[in-house]
Amino acid sequence: MTKKFTILGSGSSLGVPRIDGNFGKCNSKNEKNYRTRCCAHLKFNDINILIDTSPDLRSQLLKNKIRDVNCVLYTHAHADQTHGINDLRAFYIKYRKRLSVYADKSTKKHLMSSFGYCFINKPGYPAILKMHLLRKKMFFKSKKSKLIIEPIMTQHGYIETASYLINNKIFYGSDVSKIYNKDLNKLYKLDFFIIDCLRYEYHPSHYNLHDVLKLIKIIKPKKTILTNLHSSVDYSKLKLKLPRNVIPAYDGMKILFN
Ligand SMILES: [Zn+2]
Repeated sequence: MTKKFTILGSGSSLGVPRIDGNFGKCNSKNEKNYRTRCCAHLKFNDINILIDTSPDLRSQLLKNKIRDVNCVLYTHAHADQTHGINDLRAFYIKYRKRLSVYADKSTKKHLMSSFGYCFINKPGYPAILKMHLLRKKMFFKSKKSKLIIEPIMTQHGYIETASYLINNKIFYGSDVSKIYNKDLNKLYKLDFFIIDCLRYEYHPSHYNLHDVLKLIKIIKPKKTILTNLHSSVDYSKLKLKLPRNVIPAYDGMKILFN
């Protein structure tokens, strides 16, 4: 059975265009320059796993005709990865039970304090979510096939984010300024390396194009997909600068794997 990974959003924190209509250096005539905030969906038989709940979650799921979410894995607590959390209520209503979400210790703390009402029952407002700590390896089984997701802690400026290694085939790190040396061997010759590449210039919390091109010389992925793209990065202009096996992400991009 083929598994499907969908990049729901490929844009940086304010998206492209921004709410004030600003496209930055992006050509507004290219559909691939319309970017919502980073978020991803993984389908494995009847199991639907969401990575993050971006502020655009509702429109992302509707646009991609994703009707089910069985659990959520968080990368970190920043607004652009979490502020769609309230829309998970639809799945509480649909399944009549609290949805499981997984996060590392610090993300858990932030989510519980910022969105306490999602986790704690109040009169008239039942809790919709159940918080769990991320495990070292997350196993999912369906129809004699299995999926293993390994969280890999990565640096994101002053904080750490959980990036995810999926079946040793796909790495998803949407907000990363450094992958620690001790983890590089796990990423060697991956099928798909989906990685933060905010812009051309340096940024303290994100990889830029120079960083990513340097990194892939070491880990040699078969295909690299650049995400978390800022409005200063136009899809077609970026594509022209990239080696053949490196491509910019766009909203709705799908990857099939086993
Ligand atoms: Zn972030």
